[in-house]
Amino acid sequence: MATLLYTHPACLQHDTGEYHPECAERLSTILAALEGEEFMALLREEAPLASREQLLRAHTAHHLDHVLDAVPPSGEHHHIDPDTVMSAQSGEAALRAAGAVVAAVDAVAAGQARNAFCAVRPPGHHAERDAAMGFCLFNNAAIGALHARDAHGFQRVAVIDFDVHHGNGSQHILWDEPGTFYGSTHQEHAYPNTGLAEETGGKGRMVNVPLPAGSGSDEFRQVFDDIIVHRLKEFAPDFIIISAGFDAHAADPLAHLRLKTSDFKWATERLLDVAAASAGNRVVSVLEGGYDLPALAASVREHVRALLGH
Ligand SMILES: [Zn+2]
Repeated sequence: MATLLYTHPACLQHDTGEYHPECAERLSTILAALEGEEFMALLREEAPLASREQLLRAHTAHHLDHVLDAVPPSGEHHHIDPDTVMSAQSGEAALRAAGAVVAAVDAVAAGQARNAFCAVRPPGHHAERDAAMGFCLFNNAAIGALHARDAHGFQRVAVIDFDVHHGNGSQHILWDEPGTFYGSTHQEHAYPNTGLAEETGGKGRMVNVPLPAGSGSDEFRQVFDDIIVHRLKEFAPDFIIISAGFDAHAADPLAHLRLKTSDFKWATERLLDVAAASAGNRVVSVLEGGYDLPALAASVREHVRALLGH
């Protein structure tokens, strides 16, 4: 069975201004890295726009209107906060990024593909129910998880987040959502300063594993296996969404974990094993962070190789 690749040109046109780490070159570099014979088998799809109904599962109407009304005229930028910048194309890009995950969930749920990678931006995991923050406008992963549950009837939907930053927004949205699981490894005391181990959720299950700055492959693999994968197996997900951030790489300028590119293939394979055991192989992955362009490209390649079963 196939692996889908969702993206859209609007995601390249979301312009955050000069010197912003979350830049369009991140996505163009990823798409270039996924050219070539090895990745010919990817089924390439254009991301559709998410509908208001799909977005409202994760966000308030106030938040949707606040973001979409803030889209500035062509050539201008609007700072939703000091980190989170919008250009004229950002509204469409955000709707396509969320729409990619929704469409990928639909395709994987329907058995049209085994799994999917959504190469989209803006990223999503910092966006809370009623707030954009940390480069994120809409929470793509949480929107996909709630779509899997509410539109397809999956009863145990997991979001696993290996971005170096805690997905405060995913946790905020899923905290009290029955049938959801959010598991995150992240650097402790880093932005956004949430994700303590004692944050365990309400009706949704939260599993947070902060790692000290400087932690490398050994420390990451140990806690990922012993805590994240262990608790995920107990949950027995019937659908897995991956918040695939690659900024825990040693070369990344925004944080201080020391993962290698091969760790991203390893972690992806661990999640695919769980998906094979309880989720009929159903996995949808969506891009979050990753700011060193060569490390990002190499890490995404390893992640997609795993999705393809290479
Ligand atoms: Zn990050």
